[in-house]
Amino acid sequence: MSDFAYSKGLKRRILIVEDEEINREILGNMLQDDYAVSYAENGAQALEMLHEKKVRYSLILLDLLMPVMSGEELLGKIKADEMLSGIPVIVMTSEKPAEVSSIKHGADDFITKPYDSPEVIKARCERIIQLYEDKSIIRSAEKDELTGLFTREFFHEYVRQADDYDEISSDDAIVLNVEHFHMINEMFGRDMGDEILKKIANALMQIFGSGMYIGCRPDADYFYLYVDHRDSYDGLFTGLSDELEKYSHIPKIRIRAGVYQNVDKQISIDERFDHAKLACDRIRGDYTREVNFYSREMNDADLFHERLIHDIDDAIANRNLTVFYQPKYGIQSEKPELRSAEALIRWKHPELGMISPGEFIPLFESNGLIQKLDHYVWREAASQIRKWRDKFGVTVPVSVNVSRVDIYDPELENGLIEIIEESGINVSDLMLEITESAYADDAKGLTDVADKLRARGFKIEMDDFGTGYSSLNMITTIPIDVLKIDMSFIRNMNRDEKNRKLVELVMEIADFLKVPAVAEGVEDESQLEALKKMGCQLIQGYYFSKPVPPEDFEKFIKQEA
Ligand code: C2E
Ligand code: CA
Ligand code: CA
Repeated sequence: MSDFAYSKGLKRRILIVEDEEINREILGNMLQDDYAVSYAENGAQALEMLHEKKVRYSLILLDLLMPVMSGEELLGKIKADEMLSGIPVIVMTSEKPAEVSSIKHGADDFITKPYDSPEVIKARCERIIQLYEDKSIIRSAEKDELTGLFTREFFHEYVRQADDYDEISSDDAIVLNVEHFHMINEMFGRDMGDEILKKIANALMQIFGSGMYIGCRPDADYFYLYVDHRDSYDGLFTGLSDELEKYSHIPKIRIRAGVYQNVDKQISIDERFDHAKLACDRIRGDYTREVNFYSREMNDADLFHERLIHDIDDAIANRNLTVFYQPKYGIQSEKPELRSAEALIRWKHPELGMISPGEFIPLFESNGLIQKLDHYVWREAASQIRKWRDKFGVTVPVSVNVSRVDIYDPELENGLIEIIEESGINVSDLMLEITESAYADDAKGLTDVADKLRARGFKIEMDDFGTGYSSLNMITTIPIDVLKIDMSFIRNMNRDEKNRKLVELVMEIADFLKVPAVAEGVEDESQLEALKKMGCQLIQGYYFSKPVPPEDFEKFIKQEA
C-alpha cells in the first residue's frame, strides 16, 4: 500500500454486518479510530453495498444469525462471487459448531461473542487484512505498474475515504497531461516515453507528498491528483518541465495542468475530475499557459458548445438554419448600383433563440462540422440565385464563405460543380470568399486549390484582407479576383490617420493586382465618400443594409429595375 495515500490518515474500510444495533455500536467504536467503518443490518443489505462498484472493502465482519439473509448464506454468496471473493471475512458468533462450519465455508477467522477486548479484535482484523494485502495479485491491481500510482478504481476509493475522513477540508482536483506525448513515443521510442511518465510520477510525489496526495494514472499520459487545497499554483510545475527536458534532451516537453480548486464534495468524483480535465484540455497548444483553472463559466460554455454540436443536424433538417443576404453596391457610378450579395448563415434555435455565427462558426471549424454547414449554405445560395433569376430576370451573384477545412477537401471542386449544375446557374455566379489567414497558413497549398477552382470558372475573393499578415511577395503571386478589406480598417479610417493610410495602401495593392476592392463594414456616408475617392469599387455594410432574409432582399432587386 502506498504510504503517501495515508499521510493524512486515509483508512481502509471495514463492513460490519450485524442486525443488533448495540453490537454494531460496540464494534464500530472499537474500530473507527483506525478504519473507515460501514454498516449493514442484514445479508441482503450487505450484498447490495458490496456490489456498489466504487467502494472497496478491506474486511467484512459478519454476524451469522440475522433476519432476511443469514450470515452463512451471505458468506456463501461472497465466496462464489468473483468480484467479492477477494475480501476477507471474519464471522462473529457465540456458537462453537457454527464457527467450524463457517471456516469450512470460507471464513478467514472468527470472533466470539461477547466480544474480547478491543485490542484483541483490532489485532485480528489487522492480521487478516495484512494477510490478504500481501497477496501480490491484489497489490498489482491496486497500482499502475509503471508509475506506482493507483489504478482508477483504487484511486476512487481513496478519494472517497479522504472525503469521509475530513468532510470540511478544502481539496483540489488536478489533471495533468503531457503535450504531444504520442510524438515523444514515436520519435524517441516507447522506453523513453515510459521513463518520462515515471519521472513525472516521482516529481509529483516530491511536489505534493508532504500534504495529502492521492495520485492515479487513468490512461496513457494523463495524471489525476487529489491534493490539499492551495491558493497558488504559480510556477509549481515549471521545474518539472525543465527537469524532463534536461533528462531526456527533448526540447519543449510541456506539461499542462487543469485545476479544479476547492472541489464541491456533493458532486461525484468523476465530475470533479471532468472539471479539471476540461480546464486542462482548454490550454492544449497554448504554450503561454501552464496551469488553467476550472470555472463555472467554462463549464457553461462547454455545455453550450456540446448542445450546439448535438443540435446541428436537427437545425439543418428543420430549417432553423437559414441564409441571409447582404448587398454589395458598386459606388463608382453616379448612383450606387446593386452588384452582388454575401450569403451569411443564421441559426434560429427553437429554445436558445438567435445564435450568432461568431459563436458557432469557430466551434464547427475546430471540429470539422463546418463542412456540412458550408455545403448547406452553398446549396441554398445557388438555388436562391436561380430563384431570383427566374422571378426577376436578372442574376445577382452571391459570395459564399469557404472555410479552411473545405479548402483541403479533395472533393471541394466536384462538390461545388454539382451544386452549380443542380441549380442551373453559371459558375461565376457563385463567388468564393476565402479568408486571408488561410493563405498565410499555407500559401502553396491554397494557390494550387485556387488555381484549379479558377480554371473551372469560379471567382475567388480574398476575405478579411489586412488581418492575415501575408507577405507582399505572396500577395502578388496568389490567384485572386477580388480583394476584400477587413472592416476593422474601415471602422477607424476617418478617425485615425494610420488606418486611412492603410486603406489607401490596400486600394493601391488592388490596383496593382488589377482586381476590384470591396470594403465591408461601411456604416456611414463619410466612409463611403472617402472610399469612393480612393477608387474603391464595391461596398458592403449597414450603410446600405444589414444581412436580411431572401424575401426582404427582393426590394433591393426591385429598386434596381
Ligand atoms: P465575415 O465573412 O467577415 O462576414 C462579415 C460580417 O460582418 C457579418 O457578420 C456581417 O453581418 C457583419 N457586417 C456586415 N456589415 C457590417 C457593418 O456595417 N457593421 C458591422 N458592425 N458589421 C457588419 P456575421 O453574419 O455575424 O458573420 C460573422 C462571421 O461568421 C463572418 O465574417 C464569417 O467569417 C462567418 N460566417 C458567417 N456565415 C458563414 C458561413 O456560411 N460559412 C462560414 N464558413 N462562415 C460564415
Ligand atoms: Ca465573408
Ligand atoms: Ca470579412
